[in-house]
Amino acid sequence: MLTLPTYADVVDAARRIEGHAHHTPAMRSRTINERLGAELFFKCENLQRMGAFKFRGAFNALSRFTEAQRAAGVIAFSSGNHAQAVALSARLLGIPAVIVMPIDAPQAKIAATRGYGGEVITFDRFTQDREQLTQGIAAERGMTIVPPFNHPDVIAGQGTAAKELFEDVGALDYLFVCTGGGGLLSGCALAARALSPECKVIGVEPEAGNDAQQSFRSGAIVKIPVPHTIADGAQTQALSPLTFGIIQRDVHDMLTVSDAQLVEGMRFFAERMKLIVEPTGALGLAGAWHGGLPIQGKRVGVIVSGGNVDLARFAELVTAA
Ligand SMILES: *Cc1c(COP(=O)(O)O)cnc(C)c1O
Repeated sequence: MLTLPTYADVVDAARRIEGHAHHTPAMRSRTINERLGAELFFKCENLQRMGAFKFRGAFNALSRFTEAQRAAGVIAFSSGNHAQAVALSARLLGIPAVIVMPIDAPQAKIAATRGYGGEVITFDRFTQDREQLTQGIAAERGMTIVPPFNHPDVIAGQGTAAKELFEDVGALDYLFVCTGGGGLLSGCALAARALSPECKVIGVEPEAGNDAQQSFRSGAIVKIPVPHTIADGAQTQALSPLTFGIIQRDVHDMLTVSDAQLVEGMRFFAERMKLIVEPTGALGLAGAWHGGLPIQGKRVGVIVSGGNVDLARFAELVTAA
C-alpha cells in the first residue's frame, strides 16, 4: 500500500523552509476581476527563489537528509526548474549536488545550474537512457536521487504555496493549479482540503499534454509521448503513483488550455501586473479564464508557478500574433 503524504507533512515542510524560501505575495488585479466577473488572487511563485515554486519541494526534501546522505550528496535529472531548485537548495545546505541534463538543454539553464554550484553531467537524449545514467552515478557515488514530483517530501514542500495563499487571503471557492507531473497540484490539494474544504481544486494542463486529464477521467495513470507545447514545465508524460493518488481523491477536475491562451495570459501578466511569467506559469490563469467553470462572483485562487523564461523567447512569444 502506498502511503500518501498528508497536510501534517505540508505543515512540517512550511516550518523547514521558513526563512529560506520566500513567502511570496498574493497579488490582485482589478482589470482581470472586471473581465472575469470574479475575485482573483494570484500566488506569485514566479517571485520565489530561483524563479519557481520548485525551490519549496527541493529544499524540504534535502532538509530531511541524514548526515550520511548529506555527505554523499544529491543527484537529480532535469533540464528545467527542478535542476536549479536542487542545485540551490544543496548549496544552501552544504550538500554536494549532481544534475543530469541533456546536452542540448538551453545553455542558459546549464549555466544557471552551474551558477548555483551544481555539478552538471550531460547526456545525449537520443543515445543514452537518463534514468539508467542517473541510477548508475547514484549507486557509484552513494548519492540520493530526488525526483521532481514522485516523492512525499517534494509534494509536501510544493503544498506550502497553497498553504500560504489560504492563510493570507482566507477561504476560496476555486483554486487553479498548473500541472505537469502533479507535485504542485497534489501538494496544493492537501492544503486546500485542510484549510478551505469547500474549495474546488482544478488542475490545468496544456492541450497537447493532457495525460493527467486522461488519467483522472479513466481512473488509471495514462502515459503519453512527450507533448509539443510551449509549456516546457508541463512536458511530462505521466503522473506518478503518489501524485495520482492524491489527485484522484482531492482534485475536483482537470482542464486543458491551448498554447495561444497561455500567451494571452503571459501578455496579461506583463502588461497589467508587471509580472514576467513563463508559459507553464500561465496555465492556472488560462484555466480560470477559458476553462468554462462558473467562477462568476466567486473567490478564485491562481497559482502562478514560475517566471523562468529566456527574455528573447518571452519577447518573441508575446509580440507574435
Ligand atoms: C515543474 C513546473 C510545473 C509543473 O509542476 P508539477 O509538480 O510537475 O506538476 C509547473 N510550472 C512550473 C513553472 C514548473 O517549473
